[in-house]
Amino acid sequence: MAITDKIYVKNHRQLSSQLETNIPKGAFKGATLDILFQGEGLEKLDDATRDRVLDFAQDFLDCACDDNPYCGCPERKFIRYLLELRAQGLGPDAIVDVMSDDYMLYAYSGDVLSFLDDGVRTLEAAEGLARVERANEKCNEIRDAKHDLAK
Ligand SMILES: [Zn+2]
Repeated sequence: MAITDKIYVKNHRQLSSQLETNIPKGAFKGATLDILFQGEGLEKLDDATRDRVLDFAQDFLDCACDDNPYCGCPERKFIRYLLELRAQGLGPDAIVDVMSDDYMLYAYSGDVLSFLDDGVRTLEAAEGLARVERANEKCNEIRDAKHDLAK
């Protein structure tokens, strides 16, 4: 399961009752994305909640793909967001705090930790491959990315 399958809407019961519709707990579930993408009923949300929901839609669902929000961009962008927080030196717990402040989302820090570990392993494999191919520049680039991740 991808990390984006383990990102949840905080207070999703409360959100569902404000929207008067049942939204799934998973932030990247089709039905959740649909509601966010169509923006239907969002005026029923309280201000603080609506701001975060709109921020999420703006930051992750803003691509021009025909099959938006099912094009994979939202997931890719969210993963980039996680990696950027990591590159700023945040650990799994802090990353969960930030996503909760930014977008009213949460995840289990253990899931974030294994996502970051997987990332490091993937980069290690890529680094080894670049070394074999004597692609030095690529190799350095990957090593830098790995250091950001493993801070
Ligand atoms: Zn897209």
